[in-house]
Amino acid sequence: MMKAFRNTGIVVPMLVMVSAVGCVSDTGPVPTRRQRTYEPRRRQAPPVEKRKPPPATIAQRPSRQPRPYVAGRSEWMPNRGQISNRWRKIVIHHSATAEGSAKLFDKGHRAKGWDELGYHFVIGNGRGAGDGQVQVGPRWKKQKHGAHCKTPDNYYNDHGVGICLVGDFTSRGPTARQLASLRQLVEFLCDRCRISANGITSHGIVTKNTACPGKHFPLSAFRRSLAVARPAGGFRAR
Ligand SMILES: [Zn+2]
Repeated sequence: MMKAFRNTGIVVPMLVMVSAVGCVSDTGPVPTRRQRTYEPRRRQAPPVEKRKPPPATIAQRPSRQPRPYVAGRSEWMPNRGQISNRWRKIVIHHSATAEGSAKLFDKGHRAKGWDELGYHFVIGNGRGAGDGQVQVGPRWKKQKHGAHCKTPDNYYNDHGVGICLVGDFTSRGPTARQLASLRQLVEFLCDRCRISANGITSHGIVTKNTACPGKHFPLSAFRRSLAVARPAGGFRAR
């Protein structure tokens, strides 16, 4: 009787221990805690899956045309929302500097005694402003005459939209992003101001006394690439 009792006394606690270990993963309050621990992980899983597509989209970008820096053309509209009917030409410049921005050129132009930035737009090259970033100058916002292309009659300042691409194109050309943004901006201006491809010119072509915008700026190819009205008889020299 005592032998049997002793044996039972050892076996019973062991059975209790075994069943208690087994209970942890099956039923009772502890499993509920574990479930609570795992449930949030399952809930977090879908956002991780949702984050997967963007890297794939970014990976496809190199094969496409560079995307313009500016998100929307609404940023190119003047303060009052109305574009003047004064604009007849688009004059392209380079800054002849390795880096720059609208703010930096504004400072330089004021130092010369001008009222403010002479250009209407500046397109950055990644050094001073974003690569392909279109910066809208205060003159465009106010639809005010430019101070970028002096001629005896001042026609190109009065009626020309001045766009300056940051860079020195006497030694190398603009970046692909600068050209992509310039294309978008020029097509926007041609459309809104009813300017044909013939109205797109450069500082050097107009004044013949500057290399601006440099021999590496591909003006002819750029004009041909535009989705704007082209003259039937070809481009005029000026
Ligand atoms: Zn120039």
